[in-house]
Amino acid sequence: MPRPIQACIDLSAFRHNYGLAKTRAAQSGGQASAWAVVKADAYGHGLLRAARALGDVADGFALLDVEAAVALRDAGLRQPILLLEGFFDRHDLAACADYGLTPAVHRLEQLRMIRDAALPARLPIYLKLNSGMNRLGFRLEEIPAVRSELAKDTAAFLSSVTLMMHFATADGERGVDWQLERFRQMTAAWDLPVSMANSAAILRHPQTLGDWARPGIILYGASPFPDQSAASFGLRPAMTLSSRILSVQAIGPGERVGYGGIFEASRPTRVGIVACGYADGYPRSAPNGTPIRVAGVRTVTIGRVSMDMLTCDLTDIPQAGVGSEVVLWGEGLAADEVAAAAGTISYELFCALARRVPVIEIGDKREDDGRDKAEKESKT
Ligand SMILES: *Cc1c(COP(=O)(O)O)cnc(C)c1O
Repeated sequence: MPRPIQACIDLSAFRHNYGLAKTRAAQSGGQASAWAVVKADAYGHGLLRAARALGDVADGFALLDVEAAVALRDAGLRQPILLLEGFFDRHDLAACADYGLTPAVHRLEQLRMIRDAALPARLPIYLKLNSGMNRLGFRLEEIPAVRSELAKDTAAFLSSVTLMMHFATADGERGVDWQLERFRQMTAAWDLPVSMANSAAILRHPQTLGDWARPGIILYGASPFPDQSAASFGLRPAMTLSSRILSVQAIGPGERVGYGGIFEASRPTRVGIVACGYADGYPRSAPNGTPIRVAGVRTVTIGRVSMDMLTCDLTDIPQAGVGSEVVLWGEGLAADEVAAAAGTISYELFCALARRVPVIEIGDKREDDGRDKAEKESKT
């Protein structure tokens, strides 16, 4: 029998959450299309799994590698595919033309590469402008050079140009206005479609929706904000990481639990040992007191997370024992809460889900049709 740990991925949650992102776009009065951001193996949820679930609703998919983009094409997906970091070399550029991909362009040299490549098809590109994040993109003073490059022969090799920027503080107090202002300044002389909003901007700053929004974390049902829950927006968790209690220890006051003995019992304590550790992707930084659900009841972790196990307090859950179900995050316990306790964000928890954790899928549309209600086992 395999270890009881598993990640359950709810395909219907992807569709629900994507629909919610689109509804926000429509409510703002605009007609924004939305890239489903599926980079990093769909934030740890499985690229093809997420893409298939969204296949008939997503306007397009955004990710990083040509290889991942080709996998989507091979899976039969025909939507536009945006390469968020652009092409890395000539081979990538050729693949963009072959597979109909939309690369981001963030350096002048890349425009020249397009001109020199003699591609068999014109390319749609996203021009990435640096409006204050200071990672990728053209700075204000480079805009004239970009414009003159575009006015030259390069234009003949392009089918469309969209202006793109990324927010650094859409989730916090600084907000988006300072970057929007710079972006307007940079793009004043252009009349082109724009793509700006990440999840945080979609939820809090509808003025940023533009022509194409780029929702990521909300597709997976987590919140981009430290101070507002995903549930408050109507988002549904796509991933539930669960396991079981594999042993129980009864300890007395003054006894300690696990490596380093970082938890000391102050009362007679029932310690539940859970088959889940940092080698499964659970954060080792989770301190005593991190929320966890056992047998449907919320309790806390006690003691340090080890490679294959972690420990929790069952003292006030007498009905829980060996075999009881444990939810590490997902249904009934937001990944955001666990992440906050561990000093990180849900994005990192999802991306860290280990290969050794078996994945099962639920919420397949075929099941909705009633043909096969059984959970579908899938090999990743
Ligand atoms: C990852 C990413 C997104 C999605 O961000 P979320 O916060 O997950 O919504 C959008 N745009 C770009 C350029 C990204 O790299």
